[in-house]
Amino acid sequence: MLTEVADGVFVRQSTFCRSNATVVRGDEGALLVDPGVDGRDLADLADDLDRLGTGVVLGFATHPHWDHVLWHERFGTPRRLATAACVGAAHALRTRLQERVAELAPGVAPSLVGRIVPLPADAATLPWSGPEVRVSEHQAHAPGHAALLIPARGVLIAGDMLSDVEIPLFDPDGDDPLGDYALAIEQLAALCAEGVATLVPGHGAVAAGAEIDARIGADRSYVRALRSGTDPHDPRVDPGASYGSDWLPEAHERNMGLARNR
Ligand SMILES: [Zn+2]
Repeated sequence: MLTEVADGVFVRQSTFCRSNATVVRGDEGALLVDPGVDGRDLADLADDLDRLGTGVVLGFATHPHWDHVLWHERFGTPRRLATAACVGAAHALRTRLQERVAELAPGVAPSLVGRIVPLPADAATLPWSGPEVRVSEHQAHAPGHAALLIPARGVLIAGDMLSDVEIPLFDPDGDDPLGDYALAIEQLAALCAEGVATLVPGHGAVAAGAEIDARIGADRSYVRALRSGTDPHDPRVDPGASYGSDWLPEAHERNMGLARNR
């Protein structure tokens, strides 16, 4: 089910990893960001779009991980954009992405996975006929990771950052994974200070109002603790956490290893 989180901005959450697909209504059709996750989800999302009475005129992938580069034939064949670095990584890893999809997202056509093209060089906004959507690229989580700011709607689509359920997950191949992540948090914080009232993370609950600052604070504290060589004891990796208890503690250990080996 699509829930309207701001004027003309809708989110559908999947059961798998509480993944959020975002739909932004434009003048001639919708922008669809990170549709997920399995074939049935995507078909339900297509039904939701039919009910809204809108087609898809543009796609966007926030980063080149398998759960963010999916598509369904019912969304049609509009351009699916991403940053150039995201496209480069997705194309280099296409076979691996398709394997992951085959394993984890039944019912998704492998041929539609990762068929993204780069944004025009130096494009600061998405080329489309809806409300202005600013693209904010940074080095965090995955190559070419980007958040989308919709100023007129007060919405930030944050990709896989600022989640209530997932700790910061670094790009292990980055030059300075922790330092770059810290900079990216500040970049998103600056965007939020421009009047963001609704934050849509890639996974977990949509945040509003004061909760947005709490999200920024939690991720900031986590990264700061790691960079100073301490364990942040983040509640999101508590063994009793309701999300990801089968993989997040391991991811946290990997993060601690990255911090030690800097
Ligand atoms: Zn994700």
